Amino acid sequence: MSTETLRIVWIYPDLLSTYGDRGNALILARRARQRGFPVEVLEVRSDQRLPTTADIYLIGGGEDGPQALGAQRLIADGGLHRAVAQGSVVFGVCAGYQLLGTSFFAKGTQYQGLELLDLSSDRGPSRAVGELAGDIDARLGLPPLTGFENHGGRTRLGPGVSPLARVTAGVGNDGATEGAWRGKLLGTYSHGPALARNPALADLLLGWATGAQRLPPLDDTWADRLRAERRTAVAAARA
Ligand code: GLN
Repeated sequence: MSTETLRIVWIYPDLLSTYGDRGNALILARRARQRGFPVEVLEVRSDQRLPTTADIYLIGGGEDGPQALGAQRLIADGGLHRAVAQGSVVFGVCAGYQLLGTSFFAKGTQYQGLELLDLSSDRGPSRAVGELAGDIDARLGLPPLTGFENHGGRTRLGPGVSPLARVTAGVGNDGATEGAWRGKLLGTYSHGPALARNPALADLLLGWATGAQRLPPLDDTWADRLRAERRTAVAAARA
């Protein structure tokens, strides 16, 4: 952490905010405060400069048009690149994940991404809509991922990133892998919002941001119930 206070920036809520992306900021803030960390959450709109000294940056999902505009403004701003160079954590969801890569398609046009992750996104044969589940990279030590996806793009990973998960339901990147991570940067197609449905993933990001080796466990009864319910529903739909 750069200061006593954990600083979370939600990037461009005016452009990139679908399927409860605000929930990701709320979950991180709540889980950090419950561990005794003072937290500040900043919502930075697309006509504002991005602060470069925050600990965690969140980028949500979006329609094609706002996604393209958001990428252009983030590239022009340059602040996220500076923050990443200083070791900040970045969590991107769907459009926010795609735009961290080298390029993506929106409304039939290829756009330049931020080139922070070695991946690129094309249009898929159909929209991927529905439950998304997967077994997360064992090195991250997390329980299975669960979420909801709705995207037209498909994502190809380069050698500079690792897949976040192996898909067990849904499509994710390409039907086989889902999401990607490198260092303290992580992206996923999982909405839901992702960190409400995957509290262990929220704690991974908090651990990266605070440097804490082990965060004290919290009462996740409700989250565990939701996870169990969704996993049962996914299994039933596949049977
Ligand atoms: N516009 C992107 C796509 O359809 C991302 C969609 C989203 O964020 N839900 O692939």
